[in-house]
Amino acid sequence: MNGYFNKVSGKDVEFYEKLLGSKNLSISEEELVTNSIDAYPGMFYKPEIVLWPETSEQVSSILRYSYDRLIPVYLRGGGTGLTGTVPIYGGVLINLVKMNKILTVYEEDMQVVVQPGIVYNTLNKELEKYDLFFPPDPSSGSVCTIGGMVASNASGLKAVKYGTTKDYVLGLEVVLPDGKIVKLGSRTFKYSTGFDLLKMMVGSQGTLGVFTEITLRLKHLPEYIETGVAFFPSIERAVKTVYQIIRNGIDVAAIEFIDEQMIKVVSEFKKLQLPESKAMLLIEAHGTEASVSETMKRCVRIMKDNEAVEIRVAKDIEEREKLWAARKGAYPATLRLGKYMIISDVVVPISKLLDAVLNSYEIGRKYGIEVQVIGHFGDGNLHVHWTSRDDKEKIGLLHQANEMLAKWVIEVGGSVSGEHGIGVEKKKFMKIQHGEAYKMMLDVKRLLDPRCILSPGIIFDLEEVVH
Ligand SMILES: Cc1cc2nc3c(=O)[nH]c(=O)nc-3n(C[C@H](O)[C@H](O)[C@H](O)COP(=O)(O)OP(=O)(O)OC[C@H]3O[C@@H](n4cnc5c(N)ncnc54)[C@H](O)[C@@H]3O)c2cc1C
Repeated sequence: MNGYFNKVSGKDVEFYEKLLGSKNLSISEEELVTNSIDAYPGMFYKPEIVLWPETSEQVSSILRYSYDRLIPVYLRGGGTGLTGTVPIYGGVLINLVKMNKILTVYEEDMQVVVQPGIVYNTLNKELEKYDLFFPPDPSSGSVCTIGGMVASNASGLKAVKYGTTKDYVLGLEVVLPDGKIVKLGSRTFKYSTGFDLLKMMVGSQGTLGVFTEITLRLKHLPEYIETGVAFFPSIERAVKTVYQIIRNGIDVAAIEFIDEQMIKVVSEFKKLQLPESKAMLLIEAHGTEASVSETMKRCVRIMKDNEAVEIRVAKDIEEREKLWAARKGAYPATLRLGKYMIISDVVVPISKLLDAVLNSYEIGRKYGIEVQVIGHFGDGNLHVHWTSRDDKEKIGLLHQANEMLAKWVIEVGGSVSGEHGIGVEKKKFMKIQHGEAYKMMLDVKRLLDPRCILSPGIIFDLEEVVH
């Protein structure tokens, strides 16, 4: 639908400048280019102007004006999204990083109210003073923002114990596409007061509104943490270990899986000298010293029963960080390895984990591409890295392989995304994943944004929203 939107004119720039002041807007090539990508490879679309609002009212005015003028608006926090949520129709990019304050800490209620642009690690550093933290620990935590996390329903390494971002969002102030400001949710842990519009907003990837204030529930920092790794002679044994830990209700905070290829890649990249094996599991337990020690004992017993060839338990923080380095270094390590890479984010019922890994290898063989598998196996989430070292011709094959796995995952009752979201990258799976319910999602989008000015082309094709 080329020509549907208006271009940003000189008059529009004047309006935005009057609203925000010249220091909070840019049309310089450097800023446009910087804001034209996220972490999904190969997508580059420049906005026509970048805006840095500092208040909810400014966001509201930007949207009201852009809605009337039919100018597309995109949103950006840390820009670490992995699904291509970039300004594909140009227009305005609202960069929220200047809205980065902690507004209130309700220490007794274990809650915090923040602006969306605060970075995950910065928030948790501040919350340490209160012995509190916001648990969903994405590997991108040093850069990604809370707004981006809520919009993606991000999670990460500890979801098996603590859940995902949606489990922590109690309230949202949302600026709707036409500029109206609404407050959703409450400061209570439960409510039963009509449709749950709050949860509908979580994971909406900037398509339904701009989050300008976020109320999060928090957890106490764990008193004691222990981390261990184990290496297995087969994928089957590693997966069986995961299954037995979960099935026995053992309270682990993380169970991360790394396969043989990824062990090699990351070992070389991080100089870790990890033993050669078919699979590695990283397990972490949080709680009191006594409960953690009991948890680790039970895990080690299961690992040994499953013929783990080597088990290492960290003795101090430094060692713990070293063990985590293997897992956290996986993404940059494969980026170095392959010139072209895409990552799947599929989730399966845990009884299907083994099939999912073996199937990924089979698909890799079929298309002649390299495959490395890591994942948050405690919650059935696999990140299959499809890589091609140099061969540009193979980019299409990476996508075909990814697509084949995604379709299989849907067939076995899984989901095409566990934490990264849909963006542009996974739009093609929406109808297969949701069937009739996809039309309901489209109707919601049309209701809140009938002109489709907010993040057009993300999750939904523009043509589907406006006829
Ligand atoms: C190295 C690396 C590791 C990663 N590891 C993980 C991981 O372990 N777990 C995980 O879940 N993800 C992970 N990700 C993906 C990504 O970091 C997360 O999705 C993160 O939550 C995105 O936050 P951001 O601030 O960077 O958002 P951005 O990339 O800036 O934006 C992401 C989406 O959020 C929307 N958005 C941003 N701010 C707002 C707002 N205020 N209101 C409404 N919508 C908004 C945007 O429109 C966009 O659709 C990783 C990415 C990288 C590059």
